[in-house]
Amino acid sequence: MKPQPNSQTPEQNADGHGAGLAETLARVPHSPGVYLMKNSAGKVIYVGKAADLKNRLGSYFSNSSRLDAKTGVLVKHISEFETIVTASEAEALILESNLIKRHRPRYNVILKDDKRYPSLRIDVNQKYPNLTIVRRTKKDGALYFGPYPSAGAVRQTLKMIHRMFRLRKCRYSQVKPRERPCLNYQIGACLAPCCREVDPEEYRRIVNEVRMFLQGRTPDLIRRIESQMQEAAESRDFETAARLRDKMYALEKTMEKQVAVTTDFVDRDVIAFKRAQSKAVVMLLKVRNGYLQGMRDFSFSDEISADQEILGAFIKQYYGENESIPDEMLTGIKLPDQELYGRWLSEIRNRKVVLRTPVRGEKARLVRMAYENAGQRLAAITEEQNTAALLLSGLHKRLSLMRYPRRIECVDNSGLFGTDLVAGLVVFEDGAPEKSDYRQYRIRQISAQDDYGCMREVLSRRFADMEKEDAMPKPDLLMVDGGKGQLNIALAVLKELGISGRFNVIGIAKKDERKGEKEDKIYLPGRANPINFQNNIDELHLLQRIRDEAHRRAISFHRKRRTDRSLKSALDDIPGIGKKRKEVLLKYYGSVHAIGNAPVDELAALPGMTKKAAETLRSEL
Ligand code: SF4
Repeated sequence: MKPQPNSQTPEQNADGHGAGLAETLARVPHSPGVYLMKNSAGKVIYVGKAADLKNRLGSYFSNSSRLDAKTGVLVKHISEFETIVTASEAEALILESNLIKRHRPRYNVILKDDKRYPSLRIDVNQKYPNLTIVRRTKKDGALYFGPYPSAGAVRQTLKMIHRMFRLRKCRYSQVKPRERPCLNYQIGACLAPCCREVDPEEYRRIVNEVRMFLQGRTPDLIRRIESQMQEAAESRDFETAARLRDKMYALEKTMEKQVAVTTDFVDRDVIAFKRAQSKAVVMLLKVRNGYLQGMRDFSFSDEISADQEILGAFIKQYYGENESIPDEMLTGIKLPDQELYGRWLSEIRNRKVVLRTPVRGEKARLVRMAYENAGQRLAAITEEQNTAALLLSGLHKRLSLMRYPRRIECVDNSGLFGTDLVAGLVVFEDGAPEKSDYRQYRIRQISAQDDYGCMREVLSRRFADMEKEDAMPKPDLLMVDGGKGQLNIALAVLKELGISGRFNVIGIAKKDERKGEKEDKIYLPGRANPINFQNNIDELHLLQRIRDEAHRRAISFHRKRRTDRSLKSALDDIPGIGKKRKEVLLKYYGSVHAIGNAPVDELAALPGMTKKAAETLRSEL
């Protein structure tokens, strides 16, 4: 059955929730479905699912004294709601998960996109795929392995694979034809599909072996290689037998380093979380074939959501987002609708998935292990936060700020000879980057190198509409890159917008070594000289770190714009090179320069290209 939307707008009374609410609620059916709560600006602030919409919505608006803290705060902000009826609660769960992803509502627990953990990717749909390190997994038909705890760990695994399996090592997404193989072929580490006839079946066998290795099925792989080795020896192919023997020894060595955590061979994820004050850490252990394959943690800032809500939000968002789903999930606490989650995950995976909350035995031991690791991570985060809190308190005092600088924003401009002018705005909360709030601006009103003009434009755009309910929160401290000039511009903009005095503003200028200056300078409004940070050098370093981040952000955006423009102009004017061909060429070669150096035959062999188009391209470039 198709979900049925139904928008309800309760009339408001002085209480914020109207006398007309009873009538509007009366029209909501006793059916499973999803509800979207909206604020007065029409923005979705909460998405939930229910087996019975009428009962669930009724519980929000009936007796406010019986609501938990979070729901009490949420209800105060609800101006209207929308319901979507679904055929079942399982369907409601899917829809809820998609709507949360789309709206990222303020009162839902949102899993941050944490790119710290790399994975390995192999596109098994290609004839001769390679293995690459990626930070983000996609639903693109490729296989992903990991996540690995660090960049070092993933590189070490990749190196190990390249030592044992003759998978191609060049980084192009598709094998690039060459006249001669590279050194990897000479040392026997690659079959060289770039220039030799390589049996796709043989290559696929290597890919399968890599896959088994990465899935933790090393014992099976060793058995398989052992039997191949015996076959080779029996047919007196001693060279192959020796190569297989070395591979087997190498695999046995890697197995010694792996940690076996269970005696069965079930693939399972173990999820536990710990919370302290406003922080919650979810720890995920990935066990494949009995071996601990990876560990990953996610942190949330949330003081008021119930434990079950955090766990449910994690499962919905993590597994709804392309992640591989194992046969079994072990959780530290039981969800009220655990069985429903199992059905939903089984549906996504097309195979049965069971959620369990073990209390004793080997599985409970795994959950305890996840708890301990969550606790350690939480302790590390708390320590980082305490250190940051000390620095921020120091800044609060040293700069005589009106408020504790929990949220600091910094703006920097970038541009070369007045072209592709841009600015980057970065946000730090509690001393750590809050990347989801970063912004980048293309300067529209200034066409020449005019730092003051750019600063004026960016700040005017950032702080316009500050009063809107869904506006980005205002900073406690705004930093502008530059000296007194930039600082005065910032103060003037805030005055024009009628928001001066709502937060502090400072300027941060580079030291002038020619004048013997030893430190960067911090300017405050109304003070001629910069602040002396000699006894508070760590506080100054924090400000410098934030400024450097803004600088990096602005520069990388500027570079991107410049590159986009030059690529656009260089390829766009070539006859016969349309959008599709341009995309293929850039994807394959990565730059116009590389396209210009490629041989005509190679260009012509690309999908969608012809010899004529390749010749034109070559001569034009
Ligand atoms: S030999 Fe060819 S396919 Fe193998 S790594 Fe080198 S360039 Fe790539």
